Amino acid sequence: MPEGHSVHRIARQFDRNFVGRTMRASSPQGRFAEGAAILDGREAMSVQAVGKQMFLEAEGDIWLRVHLGLYGAWDFAGEILVDPTIASSNGRMGQTNQRGTTLDDDAVEDAILDDAGENSLASIGAPRRTRVHVRMSEQTKGLADEGTEWPPPVVGQVRLRLMTDLTAADLRGPTACVLQTPDEMLATIAKLGPDPLVGDPAHNEERFVRAVRKKQTVIALLLMDQAVVSGIGNVYRAEMLFRQRLNPHTPGRDVPEDVVRALWHDWVRLLAIGVETGQMMTMDDLTPTQYRAAMASRDDRHWVYHRAGLPCRVCGTEIALEEIGARKLYWCPRCQA
Ligand SMILES: [Zn+2]
Repeated sequence: MPEGHSVHRIARQFDRNFVGRTMRASSPQGRFAEGAAILDGREAMSVQAVGKQMFLEAEGDIWLRVHLGLYGAWDFAGEILVDPTIASSNGRMGQTNQRGTTLDDDAVEDAILDDAGENSLASIGAPRRTRVHVRMSEQTKGLADEGTEWPPPVVGQVRLRLMTDLTAADLRGPTACVLQTPDEMLATIAKLGPDPLVGDPAHNEERFVRAVRKKQTVIALLLMDQAVVSGIGNVYRAEMLFRQRLNPHTPGRDVPEDVVRALWHDWVRLLAIGVETGQMMTMDDLTPTQYRAAMASRDDRHWVYHRAGLPCRVCGTEIALEEIGARKLYWCPRCQA
């Protein structure tokens, strides 16, 4: 599922390619026909990500709120300018765990591609082929492959298609896709826990510390609670708990304050890395060879995530797997005792 770093990357993609331009909007699937009709013909004014949600402002004080949920994704096509803060990009943003599509080799340039598609061009977009040809530098534009139809044919259940003269973005499978007034949008954001990339850093940290330390709920659930902290999903949760050697079942109020603060600072750091690389890189101090391997393969870049039954990288104990909050939690019973 898309975690916070993906949504920030998507917002940057919209900022570069849609803001300041007039949008055509449609709902090929029909489920957002009314909203699309309202957006159609308006200029995109601004965009922001908060946690796992994106808010796109259209002229006339209209906000589009999109939450990708577990299955949502955006597919970009046509010419795409890549945000200079993003080291590598892909046509399909959001879902990151699918395989199987064919693309030009030169589209990937300096990116280290991930074999599970977290950031790659070559493994994104299954079961559809993507037509996007994205270049990595800020100066060059990604160009649709020659012979590509424009506008791109609609494939599958597209809830919302936004287009400029050059770029198309198709939204499939979101949990939420609604229009909001400015007040509604602010009310939504007010309910969300702090996001390291939004607002005042010191204030964010204090909000997180307060929210965690007043709760009896176990820390493994608190980290996934979007009212406590924004953007953390299953991968970051498991990895952050391991990085602090923290038992996932510790009630929030029993986690020492310095550890809560360390968790926050770690999230600040990991999110920045995730936005920059497109990958949930959660290991430190890797040699260049290890780093390349880790960028290329999820199996080589996590401490505990997806490693059930494998020996802990630190102590050799079998990594445990349990369900908590209906999601899988991976942890080391010894390091995190
Ligand atoms: Zn261990």
